[in-house]
Amino acid sequence: AKNIVVIGGGQAGAQAVQSLRQFGYEGAITLVGDEAALPYQRPPLSKAYMKGELAEDRLYFKPAAWYEDNKVETLLSQRVKKIDRANRQVLLQHGGHLDYDAVIIATGSRPRPLPVEGADLENVFELRGLSDVEHIQPKMISGQKLVIVGAGYIGLEAAAVARQLGLEVTVLEMEQRALARVTSPVISSFYEALHMEHGVDVRCGARLGSLKGKDGKLTHAVLASGEEIEADMVLAGIGIIPNVELAEDAGLPCKNGIIVDEDARTSDPRIFAAGDCTVRPLAHYARTGRLESVHNAIEQGKLAAAAIMGKPRPALDCPWFWSDQYNIKLQIAGLSQGYDEIVVRGDVEAKKFAAFYKKNGRLIAVDAINSPPEFIASKRLIMSGASVASETLADTSISMKEIAA
Ligand code: FAD
Repeated sequence: AKNIVVIGGGQAGAQAVQSLRQFGYEGAITLVGDEAALPYQRPPLSKAYMKGELAEDRLYFKPAAWYEDNKVETLLSQRVKKIDRANRQVLLQHGGHLDYDAVIIATGSRPRPLPVEGADLENVFELRGLSDVEHIQPKMISGQKLVIVGAGYIGLEAAAVARQLGLEVTVLEMEQRALARVTSPVISSFYEALHMEHGVDVRCGARLGSLKGKDGKLTHAVLASGEEIEADMVLAGIGIIPNVELAEDAGLPCKNGIIVDEDARTSDPRIFAAGDCTVRPLAHYARTGRLESVHNAIEQGKLAAAAIMGKPRPALDCPWFWSDQYNIKLQIAGLSQGYDEIVVRGDVEAKKFAAFYKKNGRLIAVDAINSPPEFIASKRLIMSGASVASETLADTSISMKEIAA
């Protein structure tokens, strides 16, 4: 009988398992995950769930019964330590092995550790999984002083939750603006102002030097400038490192991610990879890249399952992402990297606008703030590769529906 081993029980691994059954695969599936929990969604961990507004059972993609009914064996709290390609076996950390006909590596990524002295003090946290929230949440008490390192999406979302729970929040960002790695200055300024309006002390150009404590417990965040900021807790959100080690050790080509083709296949025809850990061809962008998103994990999970089953390649969506902060919903379509023009549509003051990114006259991405129609229409425009006049995009008297028609 055939056996497919899925390594990693996150967004991509869970999708791959579901898609394999949907596509009619009837052989054995073993999902090996090193977390204690069944596969769950991570986005709410820095949003509604962190705030206490979403029950834990809502995080899970499928209940335990689904895995039983669908004959998916789940090995939880179990790590894969090696892929032995010569013998077609996956070796488990706690001993034993699994034979495979195909493997899907869906190992995701891990938070980049804070590269400073004191990072191991008590009350210094990172945010990737449910167990992190279990540690952080009891400390999210009104009046506590929280220092967030890194003004990326996760850091800013956590800042918004913490402010809403009444904590005193400082955000340290070593770049000159928030979200510098992922968006344009228009959007960065918008979010800096938004957080300051809500009482967050946003410090750009502020590099963390070290963390200081007393009796092993955190007391201060110390900036490179020498300035000390009182802190009851620190949350680090300074980016992720893709978990490529298994692939690398197995001799599969990696470069800041496991290199896969259009079908999520690695250089070994029996080994696929999906999600945060991959570098993939970017369908609408004529280049490769590593994406860190739900959309990407779902899409590649499906691609891998389809390829294993010899099914036609599922249709590819343009990359998308979202972020919730306070009452602001940001929806991103496309990849803005390399844009040569920005067009703003709508009213920044009213917190309802979109920033369109163009390259050579074509729309390549949008950041839509409280503007779902702009997001939806842009997806279509990006995928069609159509040229759109900037004056048209900026003209709110013309509906997005008309523009995308
Ligand atoms: P993961 O979901 O990380 O799953 C990988 C799993 O593999 C993990 O459980 C890991 O522990 C396990 N694993 C690793 N190595 C091994 C091994 N050797 N053996 C066994 N198991 C192993 N994306 C969005 O699109 N929108 C958002 O709003 C958004 N918000 C986010 C908020 C937070 C707090 C976080 C952390 C992420 C957010 N993301 C968001 C990103 C999104 O969740 C990830 O891109 C997505 O989870 C990637 O899926 P994945 O399956 O590749 O990796």
